[in-house]
Amino acid sequence: MKPNQEARVDLHTHTTASDGLLSPHALVQLAAERGLVAIAITDHDSVAGVAEAHAAGKACGVEVVPGVELSASGRNSEIHVLGFFVDPESCSFQEALAQLRRMRFQRAEAMVARLNKLGVALRMEQVVALAGDTAIGRPHVAQALVAGGLAPSFPEAFARYLKRNGPAWVAKQNFAAAEALAVIHRAGGVAVVAHPTHGPSPSELRAMVAAGLDGIEVRHPLLSASDTDRFTRLAETYKLVRSGGSDYHGVGRSHCDLGSLNVTANLLEALRARRPATAGCL
Ligand code: AMP
Ligand code: FE
Ligand code: FE
Ligand code: ZN
Repeated sequence: MKPNQEARVDLHTHTTASDGLLSPHALVQLAAERGLVAIAITDHDSVAGVAEAHAAGKACGVEVVPGVELSASGRNSEIHVLGFFVDPESCSFQEALAQLRRMRFQRAEAMVARLNKLGVALRMEQVVALAGDTAIGRPHVAQALVAGGLAPSFPEAFARYLKRNGPAWVAKQNFAAAEALAVIHRAGGVAVVAHPTHGPSPSELRAMVAAGLDGIEVRHPLLSASDTDRFTRLAETYKLVRSGGSDYHGVGRSHCDLGSLNVTANLLEALRARRPATAGCL
C-alpha cells in the first residue's frame, strides 16, 4: 500500500556504516518515534547499513529505501551525489564502493601523517579503533583526536586541522561526477545531487543533467527557503525529480533533527517512479 502522500519521510541520513552516530537499527527506531513512514539510508560510500535498517524497518513499519551518498570531484569542491533504490547486492556497485573505501583509508593515513608532522601524536590505530571497517572519514579522525585528548572538541578538530584546506586536510580521490552517476545507474539507482549550494557550479550542474542526473535535493538544512524555491524551479526546467532530507548524523553532529524538514511521501513516490527500467546489473 502506498503511504499517504502527505506523510513525512527523510531521504538523507547517515549511520555507523559511515560517519553517523546511530546504528542502522537505532536510526530506524528513531524514525518510527518521529512518526516517519520512510527513510533513505544514504551513508557515504557504503551500503553496509542497509540490511540491518531494512530488518528494523519491517519490525516497526518504516519503509527503508536503500541509498548511498557518493562524493565526486568538482572543479572547486566535492559534489555529493545521492543514489536511491540502489541494489546493495550489485557486484559492480560493491566493487566501486570498496575502491572508494580503500581510497578513504589511505587518505586517513595521509591525514594522520600530516598531523604527526604538525606534532600531533595521533596513531592510525586510534582512528581505526573508532571507525572499524566503515567508510573512514574526517569525522572519525576528529573523534579520535578528541578521544586522545589531542583536540578540545569535535568542531575544534575540524577548525584547527581537518577543514577543507586546513593543515591536516587531504583531498579525497573521487570519481568524476559523470562516473558517480553511472555507478548509481548501473546499480539500478536514481541519482540526485545533494545540497546543491555546496557542490557543483551552474555549468557543472548542467553537465550532470546532460550526463543523466535524475534529481536534485531541494530540502536540506544547508539550503535556505529561497534556495529551495530556486532549485524547485530548476527541477521543473530540467525535468528533474526533487528530494529532501535532514542529513542526520546523530545528536551533536547534525544541523537539524531527523525528519524535521517536513519532506513528504510524494517526493519519495516521484523518486520511485524514476527508477531505471532495467534495474540491477551483473
Ligand atoms: P569526508 O567525507 O571524510 O571529507 O568528511 C566529510 C564529513 O565530515 C561530512 O559529511 C560531515 O559529516 C563532516 N564535516 C565536514 N565538515 C565539517 C565541519 N567543519 N565540522 C564538523 N563536521 C564536518
Ligand atoms: Fe557525513
Ligand atoms: Fe553530503
Ligand atoms: Zn550526507
